[in-house]
Amino acid sequence: MSSEPLDSARGKRGLLFIVSAPSGAGKTTLVERLVHVVPNLCMSRSYTSRSARPGERDGVDYNFISRARFEQMVRAGDFLEWADVFGNYYGTGAADTERCLANGQDLVLVIDVQGARQVRSSGIESIGVFVLPPSAAILEQRLRGRSKDSEEEIRKRLEVARREVSECATYEYVVVNDELDGAVERLRAIVLAERARVKAMRGTAETIIGTFDEQKTS
Ligand code: 5GP
Repeated sequence: MSSEPLDSARGKRGLLFIVSAPSGAGKTTLVERLVHVVPNLCMSRSYTSRSARPGERDGVDYNFISRARFEQMVRAGDFLEWADVFGNYYGTGAADTERCLANGQDLVLVIDVQGARQVRSSGIESIGVFVLPPSAAILEQRLRGRSKDSEEEIRKRLEVARREVSECATYEYVVVNDELDGAVERLRAIVLAERARVKAMRGTAETIIGTFDEQKTS
């Protein structure tokens, strides 16, 4: 575990990471594992109009709301980004995100490519990671293996996946999810590298550099 002081204590904003991947590439499992092994990093909880699947809990997996309520929130400008994915609405709360970043907490949004585009064009700084499956055939296998989706639904997800993977060049990093532990480790390395950038370390570096000046004058 890191001995780094909490970023909020240094008056620094948190970093915003975006993780996107085609349905079935395993991004949610990856990010759940990531936030477990990296301190001071949390996963954002989205709002959605889709109904909860068995085992999913409101306020834990998603904030489950009605379509009408979602549309009301869109009109009120409550979302940093939102999208219609496979016929359901999904969105990231603007206030939730701002609160987290202002507290110095690093945050991961697990959102689709449409949402990632909106965050990028909003001017908010973010670091994008695209998770790729090892191949189209393996993605198809995973989709068939995990779900009770109809043939048509699977075909639709593969078609959307084809369009989504072509956007991976607009992200800063690519992680191939060939094996879970290795992929989590590469994601962790990305977070740690971003935290070590001069831009992110400026406050800490200035404090340390200040101690050299104090030493000179004392
Ligand atoms: P699922 O219904 O399987 O949980 O998610 C379906 C898709 O919606 C996934 O690709 C997921 O990344 C995306 N998604 C989940 N939350 C959000 C969100 O807040 N915004 C956007 N744009 N996409 C989201």
